[in-house]
Amino acid sequence: MLQKQIARQGGVAGAPPLLLFRHVAKTFSSGVVALRDVNLAVREGDFVSLLGPSGCGKSTALRLIAGLAMPTSGQLDWRGGDAGRGDIGFVFQEPTLLPWASVFDNVWLPLRLRGVSRAQAEASIREMLERVHLTGFEDAVPRELSGGMKMRVSIARALVTRPKVLLMDEPFAALDEITRFKLNDDLLELWLDQRFTAIFVTHSVFESAFLSNRIVVMAARPGRVHGELAVEAPYPRDAAFRTSPEYAELCRQASAMLSQAIDAGSGETHGDT
Ligand code: ADP
Ligand code: MG
Repeated sequence: MLQKQIARQGGVAGAPPLLLFRHVAKTFSSGVVALRDVNLAVREGDFVSLLGPSGCGKSTALRLIAGLAMPTSGQLDWRGGDAGRGDIGFVFQEPTLLPWASVFDNVWLPLRLRGVSRAQAEASIREMLERVHLTGFEDAVPRELSGGMKMRVSIARALVTRPKVLLMDEPFAALDEITRFKLNDDLLELWLDQRFTAIFVTHSVFESAFLSNRIVVMAARPGRVHGELAVEAPYPRDAAFRTSPEYAELCRQASAMLSQAIDAGSGETHGDT
């Protein structure tokens, strides 16, 4: 357990980062500078939150990591080259499930796209559904599920291929607070167990402080990294952590840094006054 906690907090000492953003910029043809000079090292096993106001380039950063977009300048270096990227799971704010397909078949989809038959995939699918507490709902279709349950399906689908990296873009933003807490707990349990590297986008200070070992605070116009907070609290984290003075202090620090980032982001508009 101690070893797990050390690994969780420090990454592997001396090991090169899994992913390095080097002077990464992304400018859209509209002229919008979504990201400017982003330098960021993600270590294997990190749980990094990207925290920032809307428009600061969080989704753009995830899309670059996923290879869904290319930087305008600078580069993303994966340990071991492009092959080192490996499998990436992506969870969006909308669960994006196939509405006509059962829970089971929705989770099967990424395996199916690789040519894995339903029978071959069955054990992995059942295991993932158990991990997200959806055993018994295999045959349900999305419209029969609550928002939280749909998100659980989406997480199971993202993890069924056992990706090295899981990208999440405000996955719980549309859920009520109780459901969000529960999903935060379950996500941490999955992360501790499966040991993927998590990159989690949120605009919630509370959520980022609960989940991550690093909070990267971003500012907008142009999108950039404003600062970073290390979260030393050990895992597993539970309901007691949520009510601890340590957590309250962490939230205070993250809020202060986020307020600064928001002020910095709007600097151009009141720079002349
Ligand atoms: P966030 O996820 O932090 O809200 P985004 O990465 O979605 O921010 O967007 C950053 C900036 O880039 C915003 O100003 C947004 O309007 C702009 N943007 C995002 N995607 C595109 C696109 N495909 N074309 C043009 N502008 C875009
Ligand atoms: Mg976004």
